[in-house]
Amino acid sequence: MNCRLVPSVCSYCGTGCGVLFEVMDGELVATQPLKTHPVNEGKLCIKGWNLHEHINSFMRLKAPLVRENGNLTKTTWNEAFRTTVNAFNKTIAEYGPDSVGVLVSAKVTNEENYLAQKFTRAVIGTNNIDHCARL
Ligand code: SF4
Repeated sequence: MNCRLVPSVCSYCGTGCGVLFEVMDGELVATQPLKTHPVNEGKLCIKGWNLHEHINSFMRLKAPLVRENGNLTKTTWNEAFRTTVNAFNKTIAEYGPDSVGVLVSAKVTNEENYLAQKFTRAVIGTNNIDHCARL
């Protein structure tokens, strides 16, 4: 059995606690607090202790979905982007840029969240950008 600990940062909130991912035979199986991390000093909240669970969850979305006639259907990324762009363009043309908004996630990096807010403000032209941590 091959076991290793991989240092990382909890992605659930902006506190940025240090964690150690326990990887066994290539599979992420547990999360431990990083005792030497200056932010959390070896402590984690309940979300941090369960940080690894969403990665292996059977409920995790592994492909984009589009809603057709009320049903969610698996699709390709290109088709999902095309559907989203068309829906945004149609709504913005009819009601203006403040008629749409973007929600970002704590499960992606700071850089991706930064790009999303830049895209929302500079490309779409609205300040309707929010984050799942405030929902
Ligand atoms: S362990 Fe809890 S407090 Fe620390 S970053 Fe994760 S969610 Fe936030």
